[in-house]
Amino acid sequence: MHHKSYSPLEIQEIIHSKGVIEDESAVIRTLAFDSRKLVDVEHSLFFALSGRRDGHEFIQEVYQEGVRSFVVRDAAFASNYPEANFYVVENTLAALQALTAYHRHLFNYPVIGITGSNGKTVVKEWLYQLLGPNENIIRSPKSFNSQLGVPLSVWEMNEDHTLAIFEAGVSHTGEMAALEKIIRPTIGILTTIGEAHNEGFSSREEKIAEKLTLFNDADLFIYCSKYLQGFKAKIPGKKKFTWGWQEDADLKLTKNELVEGKATLIQAEFQGRKIQCTIPFIDAASVENAICCWASVLALGYQPEDAGQRLENLHPVRMRLELKNGINNCSIIDDSYSSDISSLAIALDFLRQQNQNDRRTLILSDILEAGLEAELLYKQVAQLLEAKDVDRLIGVGTEITRHRDKFSLDKVFFESTEELLDRLPALSLADETILLKGARSFGFERISKLLTQKVHETVLEINMNALEHNLNYYKSLLNPGTRLMAMVKAFSYGSGSFEVANLLQFNKVDYLAVAYADEGVTLRRSGISLPIMVMNPDVMAFDTMVEHQLEPEIYSFRVLRDFTEALNKKTREHYPVHIKLDTGMHRLGFVAEELDALISELSTNKSIRVTSVFSHLVASEDAGADDFTRQQIREFKTLTERLEQALGYSFIKHVSNTAGISRWPEAQFDMVRLGIGLYGFDGSYKNKKSPLQTVTTLKTSISQIKELKPGETVGYNRRGVLPEGGKIATVKIGYADGYSRKLGNGLGKMLVNGTIVPTIGTICMDMCMIDITGVDATEGDEVIVFNEEIRVEDIADQLGTIPYEVFTGISERVKRVYYYE
Ligand SMILES: *Cc1c(COP(=O)(O)O)cnc(C)c1O
Repeated sequence: MHHKSYSPLEIQEIIHSKGVIEDESAVIRTLAFDSRKLVDVEHSLFFALSGRRDGHEFIQEVYQEGVRSFVVRDAAFASNYPEANFYVVENTLAALQALTAYHRHLFNYPVIGITGSNGKTVVKEWLYQLLGPNENIIRSPKSFNSQLGVPLSVWEMNEDHTLAIFEAGVSHTGEMAALEKIIRPTIGILTTIGEAHNEGFSSREEKIAEKLTLFNDADLFIYCSKYLQGFKAKIPGKKKFTWGWQEDADLKLTKNELVEGKATLIQAEFQGRKIQCTIPFIDAASVENAICCWASVLALGYQPEDAGQRLENLHPVRMRLELKNGINNCSIIDDSYSSDISSLAIALDFLRQQNQNDRRTLILSDILEAGLEAELLYKQVAQLLEAKDVDRLIGVGTEITRHRDKFSLDKVFFESTEELLDRLPALSLADETILLKGARSFGFERISKLLTQKVHETVLEINMNALEHNLNYYKSLLNPGTRLMAMVKAFSYGSGSFEVANLLQFNKVDYLAVAYADEGVTLRRSGISLPIMVMNPDVMAFDTMVEHQLEPEIYSFRVLRDFTEALNKKTREHYPVHIKLDTGMHRLGFVAEELDALISELSTNKSIRVTSVFSHLVASEDAGADDFTRQQIREFKTLTERLEQALGYSFIKHVSNTAGISRWPEAQFDMVRLGIGLYGFDGSYKNKKSPLQTVTTLKTSISQIKELKPGETVGYNRRGVLPEGGKIATVKIGYADGYSRKLGNGLGKMLVNGTIVPTIGTICMDMCMIDITGVDATEGDEVIVFNEEIRVEDIADQLGTIPYEVFTGISERVKRVYYYE
């Protein structure tokens, strides 16, 4: 609507493409590259980018969704898709960058470019908070700072904005030049530079030089002098503004002190005056980022008093989107700390990906985006809600209420959050997925509290980005065409049910597997449509399984006959089943001697069809057992070849679990079964650096703190002793939550405000005590039970078990919270 439109001829000229233009009247204003996230298909230009999967593979799907414009590498596609425009280029990413670089040059307002090793996103978000009241700002969403993220951010510039803020990140020499062409910053800000030079750069000097390329053409460059001390090459920027403790800095820091343990007072000299500001942060990284913002605001010409006041009101950057269980079978997506149109679009994408309920509701406050005329703003919001399939809008605030007529969906409005809270029961929210999206001043966390089930303050946080990273890591190990079955048995190894399955479905895994039929039924009821294998099909559950299209593992003649009988009653034919072969595990499955009998039963059985045949490796992670693994693989190959020949049709063959994927590339066959690797653990990296990310964090909190005198004891049977006396904290986790009683008396460790402390005394059922002598802590403080620092692997070792047992032992009463960053 307000975005500049491009015609096919313009695009051809800008990206220097050849190709077939069937429809010269096409109008382009939306860029697409992900087949799962299409909006505004009619005006979308799809770039077939090469990534883990080649974008060209998705052209058919995207065409079917209605997209008619494609940037591709290969002209051959054009002939298969009538009425579509194909722009053929050598490098599709370079074409995307060229188009957005062109788009950038249409605008003359200031553009701030930010780079550095750390702090880019925080500085960008804080500048947005600081300058937002005066400007209509376009900024990179989240941390979109890559070769793809930057062009997508810049594409959103339009003539209503008065200021742009984009971040840029690079990992190799030569990358920044491309980003510089797209962003063309008029103002440059350098954040922190890390000490080490990373892979990708041969020296610190080279790393800095690469980053500074972004500012080659900047009019003003703002940086901390210490990072460029000793830098030999020329520092860019027609004008420079420096800050730091050095004598000659433009903003010369003179003092930095803690105020009441919650804030930092910073004093400095600026233009011959003494000035100061107080920032509501105390950790070193936040303080540095805040000073960087202070310097930037001053460099932009804001008066010191005004700048200081703005900094006092900074609030933490919270990019997290949380998914929680709510009352009345609702799912709650909590994004209640920000409201602007670009973060709304991202949150709505996430809402749209949820399948557990049919209805999607948005609770939205006034959008406090200065600069854009309200008329236009709410028109854009209304279009967005339509594009993202929202069913109902609950608007909160006088502004959004005033523009109620622009919304054509099911809607209700309240003047304030208080009014909504009063009438909440009357809205009868039930069986729906609810996105909470509100500006901070609306205090939507009060709504979130009422809507989410408050149970127990111990939570297991699941980092969905990390889970996705791990999935992609294993995908990268697969041969082209190898399918992936994700194991979500036992409540996804303790991580959750449909929440994890939904993410896997969104990422297009091929199969899911559960242990029991009821786990599969739960997934079906939550909108999971992927094929699902059930490993322990029970005869009592056969009818339910058929009703929900759950596919059994057939491991014995008894199961085969019983299941066939159930199918015959329903006169079902060719029902998909999975045959399990026992090649050495000796748990479930047909052994070699049974193969002939199995073949004869299968070949006359019309009720079923063998979709896959599989076996399980007993020690894929253990180098000491490699000979046995090799023998299992050989045996599996022989048996499946015989079966395939006898049945006269082919089926999917699979043996590898997580460690099988990482250690046995030759055993991928047609599919692999990924389990614990998804959740961040792989036995084959036991003594090596693991490429996986930690997915789960178990957190609890302090109920009470006590000072003990020498000789006093802690807990049952006086097991906990502090001979010198000390300070203990009682925390809300016990063995009933899955925190083993064996971890008592100092074996278990927890993390309190950055310090690792031991348990003291025995672990009780619902709580336990930790020794926090010498640690600064107050009641209510968060306590980490495990995360990437206190590793589940180590806890498992202490307990003489494996991470699988620790993960799956966390009881269901521990609330699961899923988040995206
Ligand atoms: C659990 C399971 C897997 C997954 O094993 P991981 O080691 O967690 O990857 C694979 N196959 C079968 C049959 C399983 O039961």
